[in-house]
Amino acid sequence: MSRFLSRKLKGLAPYVPGEQPRDRKYVKLNTNENPAPPSPKAAAVLTRDIVRNLNLYSDPQSLVLRRAIAEYYGVDEENVMATNGSDEALAFCFAAFGGCGCVFPDITYGFYKVFAKFFSAEYEEIPLREDFSVDVGGYKGVKRTIFLANPNAQTGIYLPLSDIERIVETNPENVVVIDEAYIDFGGESAVKLIKKYNNLAVVQTFSKSRSLAGARIGFAIAGAEIMGDLQTVRNSFNPYNVNSLSAALATAAIRDKEYFEKSVKTIVENREKLNTYLKNLGFITLPSLANFILAKSERIGGGELYKRLKAKGVLVRHFPDERIKDFVRITVGSEEQIGILINAISEIFKEGV
Ligand code: PMP
Repeated sequence: MSRFLSRKLKGLAPYVPGEQPRDRKYVKLNTNENPAPPSPKAAAVLTRDIVRNLNLYSDPQSLVLRRAIAEYYGVDEENVMATNGSDEALAFCFAAFGGCGCVFPDITYGFYKVFAKFFSAEYEEIPLREDFSVDVGGYKGVKRTIFLANPNAQTGIYLPLSDIERIVETNPENVVVIDEAYIDFGGESAVKLIKKYNNLAVVQTFSKSRSLAGARIGFAIAGAEIMGDLQTVRNSFNPYNVNSLSAALATAAIRDKEYFEKSVKTIVENREKLNTYLKNLGFITLPSLANFILAKSERIGGGELYKRLKAKGVLVRHFPDERIKDFVRITVGSEEQIGILINAISEIFKEGV
């Protein structure tokens, strides 16, 4: 840390993304990417013309992309904001609504804590129940901005829309942000509630179900008032937040419903296979509606399993948090990747732990 660093950033522990090592080729099951390529219709937009036009700034309104997202969800384009990954949408929410303090679960997406500190928002963590489900009652009238990932990050556990609605309904004086990074893998989106509740913001991403993690596209959907505040934040930070190439890729991807549905179906089928294989090896798994499974074995600790798998060229994610330190989080890969993972675990068990 230099002596020039702003005082408010001193002591900030930044978010640590999952590893993206370049030293060798790994079977990458650590950052919840989709093993399938993006829609071929997305690749088709990368023409000479689009490159030629990169001399011009991107559309600061991302109008074409917002229209495509609005059409997909049956909302008005005014209710949609396109962002540079959903991390940016979440950052805008913390910047806009963190002032009155925030709450989120003790086990969830690690970035919430970092954003809260970065934007000087006080926060409280509400413990998940013993079975790692969200304690819905704990969010009743909390008088602070609520951040909930649904399905929840790290656990994969999904909260039914009726529970989300109860939380939104019982907090009319504060904003509820539902982070739906993993919603397409089996959950019901809260977007349909935005017309009814003006204190709800829904955040989604193209990084998971639409295989565009590298393009960095996310979005927020909310009523007019919240959207106005988010626009103020965005325009005070980076009005050209979405680049032209990524906007065109994402527009083509969201219009290709057929490819999307096929891709999601494959992940869901593979998730069930992975779950069965892990259980056959004696693992305890949490019930996931996401594209990952949190699993633990009585035979080996989470940190040790992570290390032994890495040595065999398979990357999974291990979190040091006390409550989940015995687990590893495994992204649902292709059938081939799942096969390699399961063989590697069986070998580790044979070699002795
Ligand atoms: N929310 C959750 C719950 C996530 O797990 C992630 C991915 N790490 C994100 C948001 C951010 O994803 P992206 O910025 O790629 O859209």
